[in-house]
Formats: sequence, C-alpha cells, structure tokens
Amino acid sequence: MVAKKPRIVIIGAGMAGLTAANKLYTSSSSNDMFELCVVEGGPRIGGRINTSEFGGDRIEMGATWIHGIGGSPVHKIAQEIHSLESEQPWECMDGFLDEPKTVAEGGFELSPSLVESISTLFKSLMDYAQGKLIEREESSEEVNFCKLADKICPSNGGGPGKLSVGSFLRKALNVYWDSVKEQEQIEGCGIGPDSGMFKPPLPSFKTEAISRLGFGVVNKLFLQLSSRHDGRDGDYSKFPFLQMAFHRPDSEWRHKKIPWWMRRTASLSPIYKNSGVLLSWFAGKEALELETLSDEEIIEGVSTTLSSFSSQPHKQLNSNSHGVCNGKEKSVDGNRVRFAKVLKSKWGNDPLFLGSYSYVAVGSSGDDLDTLAEPLPNPDSLGSAPLQILFAGEATHRTHYSTTHGAYFSGLREASRLLQHYHCVGV
Ligand SMILES: Cc1cc2nc3c(=O)[nH]c(=O)nc-3n(C[C@H](O)[C@H](O)[C@H](O)COP(=O)(O)OP(=O)(O)OC[C@H]3O[C@@H](n4cnc5c(N)ncnc54)[C@H](O)[C@@H]3O)c2cc1C
Repeated sequence: MVAKKPRIVIIGAGMAGLTAANKLYTSSSSNDMFELCVVEGGPRIGGRINTSEFGGDRIEMGATWIHGIGGSPVHKIAQEIHSLESEQPWECMDGFLDEPKTVAEGGFELSPSLVESISTLFKSLMDYAQGKLIEREESSEEVNFCKLADKICPSNGGGPGKLSVGSFLRKALNVYWDSVKEQEQIEGCGIGPDSGMFKPPLPSFKTEAISRLGFGVVNKLFLQLSSRHDGRDGDYSKFPFLQMAFHRPDSEWRHKKIPWWMRRTASLSPIYKNSGVLLSWFAGKEALELETLSDEEIIEGVSTTLSSFSSQPHKQLNSNSHGVCNGKEKSVDGNRVRFAKVLKSKWGNDPLFLGSYSYVAVGSSGDDLDTLAEPLPNPDSLGSAPLQILFAGEATHRTHYSTTHGAYFSGLREASRLLQHYHCVGV
C-alpha cells in the first residue's frame, strides 16, 4: 500500500508564497515527501511587486526600492540575476534629488532657505516621534523645536505618546503654522479583519490582532509628457524634480480649480533624468480618490495644478507674507504642460490586495504581527496536532513588515516550520 502524502497548498504567488514554495520545493531534505501546489487568484505572479512598462520606460506599479543592501536577501537575488542593471530606461530617480525646485501655487519659486527650515522641522519631528530626539541640547534650534513638541505632548519625553505619528506631525505642524501661518496634513487608513474568507472563522485572537494593525493605501501615478510640451520633440530636460507648495484653505492666494487630491501630494518628477514619464505618489484618502478618477480628470487636475505654478503672480503680496517674500516669481516652464497618457496603480480597490502595506497603528504593537504569524492550531497548545493553516506575508514579520524582504523572510520561516513539522532533516 502506498502511504498518502501530505498536501501543502500555498495561497498567493507573491514574494512570501513563492519564497516558501521555492524553499519547500528545492529543499533536498523534503525528498519528495509531500505534494506542493501554489494557487494564485490573479492573472500574474508577483503580488505587490509588479514591474510594468509605460511610455517605453520600465516602471514599478508597487514595490519600488530595495530597502537596505547589506544582508538583504532581495538585493542578493537582484544581484545574482543581474536585475540591478537594465538596457531599457527605468524608474531610477537619478540626478534630481540634489536640485529640487519648489514652486508654490501662484507661480512663486521658493528659495531653498525657506524650504530647508520646514524640511528640518519635519525631520526633527519625525526623529522625536521615533524617540530619537530625547536629549535636550542647548542649541537654539533644538530648544525651539523641543518647546514646540512639549506644547503638543506636555507629559511626554521624546515621542508622540498616544498620538499616532500622523496626528502628532499634523498637530506639531499646525502649531508651527500658527506662528508662521501655514498648514499640512498626513493620512492613513485601516483594514477590516477576516471578512468571511475563513470557514470556520479565524479565532478571535487573530481577528483582534488584524483589527488593531494598520493597512494603508499608497498609489503611484505615472504621466507621459506630450512630446511637444516644450516645443521641442523628445526633449524633456526642462521638467524639474518639482516639489509643490500649496496655500492653506483660508488663503486668498488659493487657486480654486486645483483639486483637493493634488494638494495632498508633494512632488512630481521625471522617473530619471530627461525621461518623458513623470511620477507622483499619493497616500491615504487621496490615493483612494485617485482610483475613482478617469484619465481625463487626472490629466485635467494635474495640468490645472501645473498651470497655477507657471502662471504669473496675480497680485502684489504684503511684505509679511512669509512664503512669498522669500520667493521669486518664476514658472515651472513657460508653456502649458501637456500629457499624452496616464497610468495609475489601484491597490486600494483591488480585491486581492485592498491596500498597499501594513503598519503598526496606534493601539497595536509588534505582538500583533507575531500573533498574525502564529500557525493554527498552535503547536504549543495542542502538542503534536497536525498543522492546518500557516501564515506568511509582510504583515507577519515583526521587524520588516511592509517590505519585500519582510515577505521573503516570512516565506522562509513558514517553509522551515513545515519542514520541521514533517521531520525533514537539516532544516
Ligand atoms: C505602491 C507600493 C509601493 C511599495 N514600495 C515598496 C518598496 O519600495 N520596498 C519594499 O520593500 N516594499 C514595498 N512595498 C511593499 C511590498 O510590495 C510588499 O510588502 C510585498 O510585496 C508583499 O508580499 P506578500 O507576499 O506578503 O504579499 P503579496 O505580494 O500581496 O502577495 C499575495 C498574493 O496572494 C494573491 N491572493 C490574494 N488573495 C488570494 C486568494 N483569495 N486566493 C489566491 N490568491 C490570492 C495576490 O494576488 C498576491 O499575488 C510596496 C507596496 C506597494 C503597494
């Protein structure tokens, strides 16, 4: 009689699923011990890694950067398969970050000194939120910054306490703007727990952990410049790494036709030097809004915004208007920018994803990520009961959640768990 082999079904051919499958399939110790099958719900493999093409350039609709080089398995694989180089032009954002151009609604180019002060404030607030800025140094800037942070979280030394990082930054910037009369905002969003996918349903400790964790939406918008946008065929060199500054809601300088979702993005820039493809990132509500818009609405919204940056300032501004007295009247480009086509990601509404990546929301912790990673039934509580469901994926990695390498490590972890479970040697 032939003994029945255990069957392992991997659901989802994203980074975690494929890594687990590869480890199980190639592990010599598994020695044909089980049947293995990968089931993918979509028309392609790769999941939230989705290399695509637009305007003749190679682009990424999802994961974009390899975070970290030393010790990164993803970087190692990319090196081994020579995918760090490409004959085809690709989204590498080279040559721009050193010379960003910041233009405000109304056509004023902001002087770097003005932009630097707000960038420094933002960076300091981020450091504070992460608990990096606890020591009070007596240098003047630091002292001012600490006073600002104390005003928002009086009882808290070196972190936003019970506030989300987003709320903390928003409050801190509002306090700052109250003194200099400006405003900014950051959004995130959550994901619902098991919505009937599992029968019987997941135990409550799993669904509660899922409810506590955050799952945000980030979308990328690509726009191809019309080849004649500056009057010279194929020459896109004039489009800068554009940082956009918008006026606050009560400002008389606000351009009414700029759509709200454009006001929530910070930059628009070619995907590499001289590329005719521009990229802008959207997060939270504006990322979801983007998914509902037609290509025409997007082109209209972006074009209107750019026109406002390239228009001549329409009124004289009073001398104590902080943004303007530091700026000079300059356009993005003399002519109206025209777009040939657009391409956007739709991670929020795709039923196979319903978002972009997880985060540790206020009220959750690394313990919730560990809880998500626990197999069912839990081998610790049920002795030698057979494993039924194992959980991999970026949201199950305590320290590298939200990344491709986190997903990779989680796939290896669950494959090893299975190999051990089936007593494969040398795991
Ligand atoms: C816009 C964006 C930018 C990002 N930028 C970066 C970055 O710069 N660097 C980085 O490291 N990471 C980045 N990430 C995150 C990274 O892409 C993910 O963390 C990682 O790819 C997740 O892999 P995974 O295997 O956990 O999940 P997924 O890639 O989501 O794989 C899950 C798979 O399961 C399939 N599936 C879902 N439901 C079912 C079902 N019911 N039946 C069958 N199959 C199903 C899906 O189609 C998918 O193929 C980004 C993600 C997005 C969306």
